Amino acid sequence: MLGKKKPEVLIVGAGPVGLLSALELTKNNVDVQIIDKEWQRAGHSYALALHAKSLKLFEHLGLLDKVFEHSYKVRTIGIYDEKEQKARLKISDLEDDYAFVTVIQQNLLEKVLEDALLERGVKVMWHHRLAHMDPSEKHTDVIIDKLMTDTLGYIISRTEQVVTKSIREEIPFIIGADGHYSFVRRSLDINFDSVGETQHFAVFEFKTDADLDHEMSIALADGTANALWPLRDGYCRWSFQILDTEASLESRIKERYEVQIGVGDNPELTQNYLEKLLNKRVPWFKGSIENIRWRHMVRFERRLADSYGKFNCWLTGDATHMTSPVGIQGMNGAFLETQQLTTALTKILKENGARQLLNDYDSKWLPEWRFLLGIDGGPKAKSSTDPWIAEHRKTLLSCLPALGEDLAVLMNQIGLKI
Ligand SMILES: Cc1cc2nc3c(=O)[nH]c(=O)nc-3n(C[C@H](O)[C@H](O)[C@H](O)COP(=O)(O)OP(=O)(O)OC[C@H]3O[C@@H](n4cnc5c(N)ncnc54)[C@H](O)[C@@H]3O)c2cc1C
Repeated sequence: MLGKKKPEVLIVGAGPVGLLSALELTKNNVDVQIIDKEWQRAGHSYALALHAKSLKLFEHLGLLDKVFEHSYKVRTIGIYDEKEQKARLKISDLEDDYAFVTVIQQNLLEKVLEDALLERGVKVMWHHRLAHMDPSEKHTDVIIDKLMTDTLGYIISRTEQVVTKSIREEIPFIIGADGHYSFVRRSLDINFDSVGETQHFAVFEFKTDADLDHEMSIALADGTANALWPLRDGYCRWSFQILDTEASLESRIKERYEVQIGVGDNPELTQNYLEKLLNKRVPWFKGSIENIRWRHMVRFERRLADSYGKFNCWLTGDATHMTSPVGIQGMNGAFLETQQLTTALTKILKENGARQLLNDYDSKWLPEWRFLLGIDGGPKAKSSTDPWIAEHRKTLLSCLPALGEDLAVLMNQIGLKI
């Protein structure tokens, strides 16, 4: 048996999206269980910002103060080419209660969510892997493996996950928040086709004396998209798109240890290489480089599932869409999705709501992502739009830290219509 009581909803994956789903449902008095095959939450920052619209969700969950405790506010967006600033966007023009973007490390955000869940009596079941699922109209039969890390081998030892127990359960509803290689999605036979070129990014976090003044920057240089995010305590993150590299699929696996020793698994990511990238692509950045605390080469595919779910099993987050990292659209889009999904499940479970609500979820978000990933439509330039902005309109769409109507307002500031 999974926990003391059979859950109404099993959430597979305790990344930011699974944790938020669990919290939303618990708040609505739905019995949930949340499992993750790893032994603890992420060790690094990864998706590092909450869009203005996401802040409203955290307010609704009573977590805004905790988020602000760990965060840095971004109020403007600078858009650059190799030489100079081409435009500055004001996030304060958004008609949101919180008209700014909040930078918070993903590992800290996950901690805030996990702690809040624990306060509501739900403990993440780490080291539990969904190993089998057999969905039907009524419920889903699952097998969950309880794992343990074991050291094997005599002369050369290695650590491996070993199964200590398998739990069988019948689950009314499943949320697959199990990331890009989603087991739930694959078990449902849902395609996850590539819809654009794979991008690779070299990411560096370091201390700097640059005055970043609550501004994030997007630099489109040499056919690449690059981003500068200000962080707390005088740190910043530069993410550089790298064209002549092939980061491995493993680069997408989240590290669980927080401290990185030396250059980690990427010997090419030296300070010298960082300096070259800065000089070539963003010579206008004059800040110092001190104490590089994290560096990583990571692969970002562009993929979209052809459906958000089947039967009683529904997907959210990286399990359904993968996009460019610059505007943090993946995680924030997933938070908005999750709100609709958990509201639909609450209505079905607690108010005898119609199953159609789940199909509505699918019909709302698939077109949204088709647009964001450039499959359908795209931003349009006006006759008065700066020609450089007009030329880069598609790239800018995926780089701005906003979605929906907020994205439209920001695009409008640079003469683009969506
Ligand atoms: C190195 C790196 C850098 C990144 N940088 C950025 C960035 O700059 N900007 C940006 O927007 N995004 C970035 N991302 C992506 C961002 O982290 C994801 O979009 C975000 O984590 C998605 O959250 P999620 O909850 O959907 O999935 P995940 O965070 O991937 O969580 C899924 C969870 O499911 C668990 N799981 C998987 N299979 C099973 C199973 N069978 N049973 C139980 N549990 C399972 C996994 O262990 C994992 O904890 C980065 C990712 C990486 C790896």
